[in-house]
Amino acid sequence: MSGRAVLLGTGAGKADPERFSPSNVVWVGAEPVLVDCGNGALLRLRAAGIYPSQIRRVFLTHLHYDHYADYPYLMIEPLIGEAAFERGLLEVIGPPGTARLVRSFEATYDIEIDSYAYLPGYERTRELCRARVTETYDGWQTEIEGWRVTTMQVDHGIVKIPSFGYRFDGPDGESITFSGDTIPCKGIVNLAKDGDVLVHESTLPDAEVAIRKQRGFAWRIHSTPSDAGRVARDAGVRRLVLNHFAAWNSFESGKPAYDWHQIAPPAVREEFDGELVIGEDLLQIAL
Ligand SMILES: [Zn+2]
Repeated sequence: MSGRAVLLGTGAGKADPERFSPSNVVWVGAEPVLVDCGNGALLRLRAAGIYPSQIRRVFLTHLHYDHYADYPYLMIEPLIGEAAFERGLLEVIGPPGTARLVRSFEATYDIEIDSYAYLPGYERTRELCRARVTETYDGWQTEIEGWRVTTMQVDHGIVKIPSFGYRFDGPDGESITFSGDTIPCKGIVNLAKDGDVLVHESTLPDAEVAIRKQRGFAWRIHSTPSDAGRVARDAGVRRLVLNHFAAWNSFESGKPAYDWHQIAPPAVREEFDGELVIGEDLLQIAL
């Protein structure tokens, strides 16, 4: 087994200097592909030793901003005095609506794109800023460099937006599955079934969900650590890696920071006795 992945951002939608928004790299053969491209993804790519121009494929789990906010940056950054021309076209794979999102970014940035397109050596700028887009569906698969990529629909709870998990299976039996944003559901259990690593969202502590229920706030949107543990157990995975952590408790004055290393393990342990990893930005995962 020789696969590897890097968690670039393990935070959620709030501005957290410790945890950037979701993005991850999986090496499929010699190619680093992105799974989500949240705010901070490009800075974390560089910290991981990867140039944005090395990225040719981006898989989006769903179209919430914390999962794609760095996409325009990825679209343009490699063009700036660098070898975008080696990158070729980006390919963006995501749920229904991805083409609309990508085309709207391309239209929004066309003044800037045009400003480069007239420069000597930059004649291909317009062409290179127009990504190939593939919209996925439940059960969609593709092959890249001997790796099989599978998507299944997951459930973002009461937020009605198409949401997908992705599983990467390598040629030597290695695998890693990303839940994206989901409540516990059959889709993620089936996708991760008998796999090695499951990277599962763990947005809110069980205790905060209890407070939300009490106060009548929306709560059935994300997973807690014990939800993630239950999914990992039902799927029969060997390793559970948690990500998509809320930074602080919104319901207490002063907004105290959550210490996920304290909060998550006891909750997960009630459900799952395999290996547990609390995700951190730039954590490397050997597959
Ligand atoms: Zn979301």
